[in-house]
Amino acid sequence: LNVPNNPIIPFIEGDGIGIDITPPMIKVVDTAVNKAYGGSRKISWMEVFAGEKAVKVYGKDKEGKDTWLPSETMQAVRDYVISIKGPLTTPVGGGIRSLNVSLRQELDLYVCLRPIQYFSGVPSPVKHPEKTDMVIFRENTEDIYAGIEWAAGTDEVEKVITFLSDMGMRKKIRFPESSAIGIKPVSIDGSQRLVRKAIQYAIDNNRKSVTIAHKGNIMKFTEGGFRDWGYEVAKQEFGAVEIDGGPWCKLPNGIIIKDCIADAFLQEILLHPQDYDVVATLNLNGDYVSDALAAQVGGIGIAPGANLSDTVAMFEATHGTAPKIAGKNIANPSSLILSAEMMLRHLGWTEAADLVLKGVANAIISKRVTSDFSTQMEGATQVGTAEFGDEIIA
Ligand code: NAD
Repeated sequence: LNVPNNPIIPFIEGDGIGIDITPPMIKVVDTAVNKAYGGSRKISWMEVFAGEKAVKVYGKDKEGKDTWLPSETMQAVRDYVISIKGPLTTPVGGGIRSLNVSLRQELDLYVCLRPIQYFSGVPSPVKHPEKTDMVIFRENTEDIYAGIEWAAGTDEVEKVITFLSDMGMRKKIRFPESSAIGIKPVSIDGSQRLVRKAIQYAIDNNRKSVTIAHKGNIMKFTEGGFRDWGYEVAKQEFGAVEIDGGPWCKLPNGIIIKDCIADAFLQEILLHPQDYDVVATLNLNGDYVSDALAAQVGGIGIAPGANLSDTVAMFEATHGTAPKIAGKNIANPSSLILSAEMMLRHLGWTEAADLVLKGVANAIISKRVTSDFSTQMEGATQVGTAEFGDEIIA
């Protein structure tokens, strides 16, 4: 990337705990950048709006609907290429899609990247959390998550039932008229571009393996397709050769490409996390797997993420708006701060990124931490969200 010394970075504060965790994130990043580059580089933050704050600022659109996601915000995220966001409430009510899903689809942010890294001292439900070191590549635009759904009793459902009856399929499956229906699109190019990114990441970062996690044993054409097309990319584009007659294969540099059925994978990551490294998976599996893995290394309060297209990169914490603790200076800001650390690395500002990582690691060791950690850490002192940010800076 050709990054200027003073890049403009749009940020969405986010709903709920967004107001708690965004200010310390900015403070930590500014301090790290200043310390790393002695004032010669600086981010110019530009606030853009989405979610409840957008409705407050923009009011209603021409059709009289609340403006949850203004076109100016979409444009800024596109134009400035790199951005960061807090969590957004999914508006309740028929016909309104999740803002996160809208952002991902409209900007074609097809990779959801979630590194799972353990920081020494973080309370964990497993005996050896340090064995978990994975990077999840979750497909972000397809699958049952695409939001193609119809409620029970609608005309569309009736049409699908008629179609299946005409195909002679209805007798073979239980499919009452009271069904709601969702469609699960999984495409060849959508799957391959995701697996391609995962393999390239494994190569660039000297990782040992890429595991394709899927439910191809049951959903043969969608999830099974994802697995087969993934292996195809490995062989045709990266020169992988089959091991013992396949389907596992090996890249010329020794990286293993393997697959695992998603339910078994959830067991595997608990029992043998050291056997897994980069993971490429479909949208819904990826959602479950990344939260389960986040719990293994301390919970979603410390889980960073990024949504990437071929051009745009939007960094975001993986958790939601945590409405019960919002505005109370309780939330753990690490998730968003570590997302910003990924952003700094993406900018190529590695020295600043390293400082942020070191700050988070040392703040945890200091045991002056937010309540999600302090209640489970012996001898810990509970501090607020802002104070934990200051501890990272210190
Ligand atoms: P959530 O992630 O907001 O909360 C789940 C649990 O984790 C809660 O107990 C919460 O208090 C805790 N938690 C979350 N972040 C924390 C932090 N930083 N520090 C300490 N504890 C934290 O999930 P939810 O309750 O299912 O969702 C609430 C809202 O967020 C919904 O509207 C949902 O649609 C939305 N959501 C948004 C995103 C996003 O913007 N990327 C992701 C998930 C959910």
